[in-house]
Amino acid sequence: MTDPEAALAAMTPLAAIRERIARTAAIARRKAGDVTLIAISKTHPAEAILPLIAEGQRVFGENRVQEAEAKWPALQEAHPDIALHLVGQLQSNKAEEAVRRFDCIHSLDRPSLLTALARAMDKSGRRVPLFVQVNIGDEPQKGGCAVADLPALLGEARMAELPVIGLMCVPPAGIEAAPFFALLAKLADDHGLPARSMGMSDDFETAVMLGATHIRVGSALFGARG
Ligand SMILES: *Cc1c(COP(=O)(O)O)cnc(C)c1O
Repeated sequence: MTDPEAALAAMTPLAAIRERIARTAAIARRKAGDVTLIAISKTHPAEAILPLIAEGQRVFGENRVQEAEAKWPALQEAHPDIALHLVGQLQSNKAEEAVRRFDCIHSLDRPSLLTALARAMDKSGRRVPLFVQVNIGDEPQKGGCAVADLPALLGEARMAELPVIGLMCVPPAGIEAAPFFALLAKLADDHGLPARSMGMSDDFETAVMLGATHIRVGSALFGARG
């Protein structure tokens, strides 16, 4: 009989994460293929990313436009099938760069950015799928649209014909994430949005149980950030 923990320990970090997604999806009666693993490569150099590409990982995430511009053009030229997601706060004056560089943006959180993204998409002709980031714990310092402001922001996005596919959150640190994931899933349901970007290295299995379609995993794949 094989010990499941020992089996995980013998795998590469990527294979172990994939296995944990598969086990959790099976328990939740979900298809593992309905969960997109985004490898968050922020702060890590190309040399750390290449082994994951070699293992077949094709979806990556960065949190800063500048860092992505420096790191990804060469990697993407070599591997045109890679999808790059932006998971960090976005300044309106970087909207054009972001729309050109990224295949998905997880951080739409305010009307001024909505306007800038709409203009950038019109100009470039690229329609980049968007998540609205929700400040799910109503934390004063945190990015994201307040829960109370979500209906208005989604209404504006609809008027502007922006391709909003779902909601994203980063729950408050240090407390159980499950209630916040459940709330994000409910808000997405209420608004008829199919995608939920939630769950990171420490809590992605909880997020998969609660309906995550996109999980954002950094340190569990790459090791701690320096
Ligand atoms: C860094 C980051 C992650 C990944 O966090 P880990 O705990 O390293 O897995 C996920 N989402 C966002 C928005 C991030 O900035």
